[in-house]
Amino acid sequence: ESSHLPSTQCLNIKPIKDSGDDDHLLHRSFIDPPALVERAEGVNLFLSDGRKVIDACAGAAVALIGHGNKEVHQAIINQLQKVSYVHTQSYTTQPAEDLANLILRGSPHGLEKAFFVGSGSEAVESALKLARQYYFEKNQLERLHIVSRRQGYHGNTMTTMSISGNLARKIPFEGFSYPHTSQVSPAFAYRNMRDDETEIEYTARLLQELEDEFLRVGPYKVMAFIAEPVAGSGIGSVTPPAGYLAGVRALCDKYGILLIFDEIMCGVGRTGSFFAFEQEGDVVPDIMTIAKGLGGGYAPISGVLVHKRVIDVLRHGSKAFNHGHTYQAHPTSCAAALAVQRIVLRDGLIARCAAMGKILESILRTELQDCWSVGDIRGRGLFWTVEFVKNKETKETFDPSVHFGVRVQQAAFNKGVALYPCSGTVDGKKGDHLMLAPPFIITDEELRTVCKVLREAIEFQQ
Ligand code: PLP
Repeated sequence: ESSHLPSTQCLNIKPIKDSGDDDHLLHRSFIDPPALVERAEGVNLFLSDGRKVIDACAGAAVALIGHGNKEVHQAIINQLQKVSYVHTQSYTTQPAEDLANLILRGSPHGLEKAFFVGSGSEAVESALKLARQYYFEKNQLERLHIVSRRQGYHGNTMTTMSISGNLARKIPFEGFSYPHTSQVSPAFAYRNMRDDETEIEYTARLLQELEDEFLRVGPYKVMAFIAEPVAGSGIGSVTPPAGYLAGVRALCDKYGILLIFDEIMCGVGRTGSFFAFEQEGDVVPDIMTIAKGLGGGYAPISGVLVHKRVIDVLRHGSKAFNHGHTYQAHPTSCAAALAVQRIVLRDGLIARCAAMGKILESILRTELQDCWSVGDIRGRGLFWTVEFVKNKETKETFDPSVHFGVRVQQAAFNKGVALYPCSGTVDGKKGDHLMLAPPFIITDEELRTVCKVLREAIEFQQ
């Protein structure tokens, strides 16, 4: 009997009309080629079957200034005409320096150095290696263990997958993993805060669990605790309870453990501040990662940002981070990201994200509150998730075979709105969540259309 794996790709968005001529679509999909996007502009995708779709999830919270921006195109062309590639072992380039400068100017929060790489997974992998080198230089060689959170998502490479909670993606690779890791509960009040508990008590319980885990492993063996300040694709835009991140920071300090924030999805403005942690009492990590919104989708780029206290150890030790990729800080990607971030600054798009986020929240709550299957609406900035449940009272999930979230996603897509499915599990079972993370340039009118379509797509299932 063949073993059937849960699909890791929740949905291949299907064109409405099957052209019957898919033989030329050879990329990635084994069956059912997804919709072919011919052109993208602003918040819209234009498909080969003639339809226009609002990209209400910006791909996966990526396209923060929208698609097809001519200024970014020009910046990429200009860079290609100057320097298309050099290896960072021997050289730097102006866009790499300017981008690092734009992000770290004045060393906000003590973050002092940036390393640009290609993808989110590469950034997290690099952050973990940097943490290890930090302890190597400090001669604390036993520190190898990484504590992360169940339902967190940190990437698809061997180590980043090992510390992620996405079960479906891990099943075929059991045994093919980083061994020194364990997980604690996510900070997820909707699911895990008890009815008889205050928020303060819930935070205290989470922190006790984390401290117990540090003590169980042996704190002198723990290298890092990694978390997304606002959890992303695993469980869908979950903000932590008050005091949680500050408590985590205090515990890491108590045991000399590095704190890594993975802001690949929630960072670069997505929650209404450049760093998501800035809205959590400015709890500053030792190392952090950013990606998606950094290049806004115009070129692959991610970044590792490092606090002075980590840099100082390397600066006075081996004087270099013993890590590198051929395409790191690629000049075209840096030029694209620089152009995107300059537009974000010039046009005040992070403030716009915060303001439009309030509008989106209010429309979502009005449109969806009374839908029987909507269990929770949560988020911050332009980073919102709707969680579907079979029973609102008990919060019971749908049987995974129902594919409720995926069906709502497909129905919304058929009506011209693209949403992102979170891959997360709820108590070991697959949950149903759809994420809204539109470009920051989206208008009120478009947000209203998105929410109206989402409501219709939900009602279509009833
Ligand atoms: N970390 C977080 C928080 C993410 O959301 C993702 C991707 O969704 C990753 C890491 C991995 O990034 P990538 O898919 O670019 O490798």
